Amino acid sequence: MRYYSTNQKALPVSFRHAVLKGLAEDGGLYMPERFPVLNFPAGTPFSEICFEVAKSFVEQEIPSPILREMIEQAINFDAPLRKLSDAIYVLELFHGPTLAFKDFGARVMSRLISYFVRGLDREVTVLVATSGDTGSAVANGFFRVDGIRVVLLYPAGKVSPIQEKQLTTLGENIVALEVRGTFDDCQALVKQAFRDLDLHRKVQLTSANSISIARLIPQCFYYWHAISQFAEPGSVLISVPSGNFGNLTAGLIAKRMGLAVESFVAACNSNSAIPQYLATGKFEPRPSVQTISNAMDVGNPSNFDRMLALYDHDVYKMRKDVLAANFSDAVTRAAIREIFEQYGYVADPHGAVGYLGLKRFLEKCPAGTCGIFLETAHPAKFAEIVKEVLGQPVEIPERLRQCLDKEKNAITLSNRYDEFRSFLLSSW
Ligand SMILES: *Cc1c(COP(=O)(O)O)cnc(C)c1O
Repeated sequence: MRYYSTNQKALPVSFRHAVLKGLAEDGGLYMPERFPVLNFPAGTPFSEICFEVAKSFVEQEIPSPILREMIEQAINFDAPLRKLSDAIYVLELFHGPTLAFKDFGARVMSRLISYFVRGLDREVTVLVATSGDTGSAVANGFFRVDGIRVVLLYPAGKVSPIQEKQLTTLGENIVALEVRGTFDDCQALVKQAFRDLDLHRKVQLTSANSISIARLIPQCFYYWHAISQFAEPGSVLISVPSGNFGNLTAGLIAKRMGLAVESFVAACNSNSAIPQYLATGKFEPRPSVQTISNAMDVGNPSNFDRMLALYDHDVYKMRKDVLAANFSDAVTRAAIREIFEQYGYVADPHGAVGYLGLKRFLEKCPAGTCGIFLETAHPAKFAEIVKEVLGQPVEIPERLRQCLDKEKNAITLSNRYDEFRSFLLSSW
C-alpha cells in the first residue's frame, strides 16, 4: 500500500515513510491510495478485527506475526458496546491507560515508530507539545517502548490537575517539561527544534504528530468491532464527538472499506467549522472558543483535508455520509443530566455532545434504525463538571487513582528556544 499526500505535490510513499514523517513534504496529510474491502462475521474477536484491519493498511511492510503481537500489546483493553435502550447504544472508548480514546492511536503509533526506527544506532527523541489529553496518551503509548525517549512540553498552570498528574508521573523514558508560557509557545518550541538542522545532527528527532496516519488507522478498529456485534446488520447511525476530526475520518475510511453504517454524525460543540461547511459549502476556520468539552475546542480541524480527499472536494458527496450538528455548553450539561435520568448512565461532556448529535438525527430516521454514540473519555476525567451537573461525585477508576497518588516530576523551563535546545543536548 502506498500513501499519497492530500496536497498532491509530494510523491506517494511507503507506510514506513508515512509513519516516520507524519506530515508529507508538501505539508499535506497522508492517505491510503486504496481502500481494501473488509467484512467480519458477527462475533469476530476484537483482537482479530484489530489485526486484520491493521494488516490491510500495513500489508507486507511488517511480517504478520510481528504485527499481530504489536497490535495485541497496543490494544490490550476492550471497547465495549453498551445498550442504553432498544435504539441507543454507547461505544465506550475510555478503557485504555489514560481513559480517553486517544490511547488507541497513540499506543499503536508508538509501536510502529519503534519498529521502524529499530537498527538506527541512537535513541530517538519524540517531541510532543500538549494542552492536556493528547500528551498523556502519547506519553503513555511510548512508555517503556524500546529505543525511544519522549519529551513532553506543557504550559504551566494551563492543564487540569488530573491532566498534569497524568503527564508528570510516568518517569523512566518520559520527561515532562513545564513551560512558563502558553500552549502556542510549547508548539513553537517543538517546531523550531524540527527546523534546527544542527540540533538534528546531534539528536535524532521524530514527531508523534496528531495527524499521523499511524494514529488514524487504529481508530478504525472499534467501528468494525461495534458493528460486528449486531447479529442482523440493520440500519445504523454513528455519532462521533469531534474536534480535529481524526476519529470521524477513521469512521469514514472504515465505511469506504465496507463498514455497514448508514451515516455518521459529526457532533460538535460551539466550534462548528465543519457543521457550517456541510450546511453552506463554505469552510471558514475560526479561532477556537473554549467549552466544557475542551478536547474538541478546535477552530481549524486538521483532518478536514482528509475528508475533502475522501469526497473529491464535493460537499454534496460528503453530505451523503456525514450529518452534522453543534451544541452549546448549556445544552450539553442538560444532556449529561438527561442521559443519567433516562438511562442511569454517567456520560462525560464529550460523550454528551455525541449523544445530542445522535438524538437529533435518529428521530428523523425510519423506525428500526439503531444509533451508537461514542464515549471518548471516562467521566472521571471531567469529574468537576459531571459532579456539578449530577449533584453527586463520579467514581474514580483505579488506574487514575494510582496516578493521582504519585508525585509530580517535571522540569521547569522558560519559553526561550536556547534554553529548550540546551536541555535537549544535555544528557538527561
Ligand atoms: C481528542 C478528543 C476528541 C476529539 O477527537 P478528534 O479526533 O480530534 O475529532 C473527543 N473527545 C475526547 C475526550 C478527546 O480527547
